[in-house]
Amino acid sequence: MAFLPFYIPSQKRLRIVIIGGGYAGVAALTVLSQHASHVDITLVDPKTQHLKITHLHETFRYPLSDLLVPFSDLESRFDCRHIRAAPTITEESLAQWQKDQFIVVNDEEIAFDYLLIAAGCSDLAPQKIANVMTLNDFMNEAGSDILNKVIADNSGEELGLTLVGGGATGIQFLFEIEAFLKRRKINKKLTLVDGGDHVLKQFPIEFSRYVEMRMKELDIAFYPHTYFLEQQANEVLLQDKNTKQTFSLPSQLSVYFTGKSKQSVFDANANGQIIINGEPSHRLFTAGDCSNYSAFGSNTLTAQSAVRKGKLVARNMLRHSSVINILEPYLHRDLGYVVSLGSSDAVGWLALEGNVVHGLPAQVIKEIVEAQYDLLLTGIDTYLV
Ligand SMILES: Cc1cc2nc3c(=O)[nH]c(=O)nc-3n(C[C@H](O)[C@H](O)[C@H](O)COP(=O)(O)OP(=O)(O)OC[C@H]3O[C@@H](n4cnc5c(N)ncnc54)[C@H](O)[C@@H]3O)c2cc1C
Repeated sequence: MAFLPFYIPSQKRLRIVIIGGGYAGVAALTVLSQHASHVDITLVDPKTQHLKITHLHETFRYPLSDLLVPFSDLESRFDCRHIRAAPTITEESLAQWQKDQFIVVNDEEIAFDYLLIAAGCSDLAPQKIANVMTLNDFMNEAGSDILNKVIADNSGEELGLTLVGGGATGIQFLFEIEAFLKRRKINKKLTLVDGGDHVLKQFPIEFSRYVEMRMKELDIAFYPHTYFLEQQANEVLLQDKNTKQTFSLPSQLSVYFTGKSKQSVFDANANGQIIINGEPSHRLFTAGDCSNYSAFGSNTLTAQSAVRKGKLVARNMLRHSSVINILEPYLHRDLGYVVSLGSSDAVGWLALEGNVVHGLPAQVIKEIVEAQYDLLLTGIDTYLV
């Protein structure tokens, strides 16, 4: 067992339930299995496989199966039990779970000493609409298969495709879609629409300058200050944000990436303990996109924050169970962020937000970060901070 400062295991077996097997939940799992031999871990997630979602845009090049890790593999690798379920998580259910110290999953009562909520946050996209694809669609089918069907349905015509949302996810998909259609030699017209005045608003302005220059080179039309209204059979209906005028463009498919809902986000103290009725809970923790810590560390909706929070709360649950009971505050600041622009280009910042890199160096940084997470999934922890 690896050494964890301020953790002196007691004789009693610990029961830990993790709700959500994404980046935060799985990171917590790896830490628990690394530091404790006397923990019974139950992982609750409705899916059968963990999805390495940060690679999702690459399914125009690689099969979706490359990004999936069956929970059955994680069960044997990290000695836990996976239950397929999606309990409803509300302020009320949290208060109830705290009081009961058990949750009911698929009619089974599961007692816990600690409960971790790491269920991510849901997509803002509309419900399923014809000819509109959302993140959910790409989580279930490879991008290449989705586009191949659209190509088959529209053979011979110029393919109009509208991407809605110029955030990191939208941009990563846009460049992969462009490259995929080029490889398939499809006559196409790609359009990006966004309500703001430039792409990648949450990043330094150099990001949008670089990306918009690359879009021009690739003949991708960009409509800023524009809202998506509706995808019809062969055109997309849009609205100018300032003049409110509506207009349409030829388009057979819209791909919609407008971000995540903040609805199911839970406040926590600096140790990751959920605030319930104004007080930090001793036994309920949260991590990942669904958590907002009152701490120096970053609350960004990123995999790197999710992993750091997941690891921190796992250490804190163990420490809380031990004789000394000194918990660690969350201090992690994101070390950089790279937006991929296809297989051989990217733009990102490293160490300081002003330190912008692009091209191959940015791509290499992204690959190193992804490789580090792949190693963690195999049980090898190379995270220094
Ligand atoms: C296309 C894309 C690319 C990205 N690229 C990057 C990147 O390059 N770098 C980066 O840092 N971040 C990136 N992100 C953001 C990053 O993926 C998220 O911040 C990260 O996945 C959050 O981890 P999480 O564990 O909180 O949630 P998730 O990874 O979303 O996992 C949540 C899990 O909870 C499960 N779940 C949901 N509801 C319930 C419930 N009620 N009960 C039980 N289980 C439930 C889900 O099935 C899922 O397995 C990207 C995101 C996307 C979509």
